Amino acid sequence: MHVRKNDFVQVMAGDDSGKTGKILSILSSKRRVIVEGVNYVQKHIRKSEKNPQGGRMQMEASISWSNVLVVCQNKSCEKSGKGVRVRRKFLDNGEKIRVCYKCGSEIVVGE
Ligand SMILES: [Zn+2]
Repeated sequence: MHVRKNDFVQVMAGDDSGKTGKILSILSSKRRVIVEGVNYVQKHIRKSEKNPQGGRMQMEASISWSNVLVVCQNKSCEKSGKGVRVRRKFLDNGEKIRVCYKCGSEIVVGE
């Protein structure tokens, strides 16, 4: 898996191609992710105690994780602000990090 929760990603395919947003959740078993502000759908809410009115709610639907790439935050990278492929890098202390394929800077996970 190349993405993690809270990653800032760009959508590379589909109706929302080009949009960027934060990963809200990852559905590992389905290989899908939910990205903030991407792939909005209208969801019908049934009347319940919690929602006595029922009605409709806008929410993000999941998209295939193969359609997103993490965004490189390095300002001096030629791909800055865009989705990039990542590669793995091992630090001297054995820690494994993800770096931008273009510029080699670490991909930092958002809060
Ligand atoms: Zn980069």
